[in-house]
Amino acid sequence: MLKLEKFKDRLEDDKARLERMIHSRRASVTSHGTNGVNESFSNSGDDEYADAATDTFIQELDMTMLNKYKHRLEQIRHALERMEAGRFGICVRCNTKIGEARLDAIPETPYCRECEGDVEVQD
Ligand SMILES: [Zn+2]
Repeated sequence: MLKLEKFKDRLEDDKARLERMIHSRRASVTSHGTNGVNESFSNSGDDEYADAATDTFIQELDMTMLNKYKHRLEQIRHALERMEAGRFGICVRCNTKIGEARLDAIPETPYCRECEGDVEVQD
């Protein structure tokens, strides 16, 4: 038997942590938004253009991180839903049990090792 409580605690912890990170990323993306750029351009000096470019780069970096966090959060939410449904630890693709070592490493994974490989190839 899987120790569901252990995985549930971990998933809940990760979920809370990701939600906090997404929240703070969102705040930082907003602070780099159009208002900041307009301010830079209204000041004189060539350096301001470089600053604006850096801001755009940071924004894109933030968005990439944000999307990664969101993706992981989705997986965690689905894992918790599967736990509620009594399907946690069972591959959503082939219905075989996912090894406990694998769940220890990635508790939110929806796939067994074999299917994960197949899905990655398809991507
Ligand atoms: Zn599978």
